[in-house]
Amino acid sequence: MGFVITVDGPAGAGKSSVAKRVAKRLGIRYLDTGAMYRAIAYTLDKKGVAPAENGELTRSVASLVVRLEGQGIFVNDENVTESIRSYRVDRVVSGYAALKTVRNALLNLQREQAEYGDLIADGRDTGTVVFPEADLKFFLTASPEARAERRYKELLRKGEAVLYKEVLTQIHERDRADSNREVAPLREPVEAIRLDTSSMAEDEVVNELAFIIQSRMA
Ligand code: C5P
Repeated sequence: MGFVITVDGPAGAGKSSVAKRVAKRLGIRYLDTGAMYRAIAYTLDKKGVAPAENGELTRSVASLVVRLEGQGIFVNDENVTESIRSYRVDRVVSGYAALKTVRNALLNLQREQAEYGDLIADGRDTGTVVFPEADLKFFLTASPEARAERRYKELLRKGEAVLYKEVLTQIHERDRADSNREVAPLREPVEAIRLDTSSMAEDEVVNELAFIIQSRMA
């Protein structure tokens, strides 16, 4: 097992963009656990499988093989890397991520990633459930307004027609769903280093994380 760093926090706190850049700078592998939940949610939603624990969901989840390949993610043979970033998936993902069947299906694949060397993982429960023994844990957060603003701009850049108010409501809903679910809810690990990124530029957050990680790994 390599040196494991976890980055958790609510939707839109900048975890994925930051963790990805830090990983690249330090030459560490990066694991986006949110992308895995998105991949399952995208596929089940498209197949019309409702986010509820029942036989149909169990069978469907069992028929899916999620595979990470470089920066891409595949479900069975479909490359879903781009499709999972849509606003539709933003809205449905938390419903699927709350289900034990879905979480159990992904847990081993996530843990396995630490066997190949140093790893930086981001998500909601990477420091609490996936890697409770991680060497270094971060919790990135920001005000709901700052997070909605970032996500709104990102969606506009991709050509999605959304309203800022709609995105803010959806961020609040995702926070509520991710924090109140029974299985692996979003929690700040007690030993985590907390960063409020509301008024920080992405470069600053990247520099700060990279600095802390390098000093700890040294
Ligand atoms: O990080 P991202 O916003 O892409 O995650 C999408 C969704 O996946 C979250 O809103 C959450 O419902 C779920 N998720 C999770 N546990 C993780 C990572 C993501 O439940 N470790």
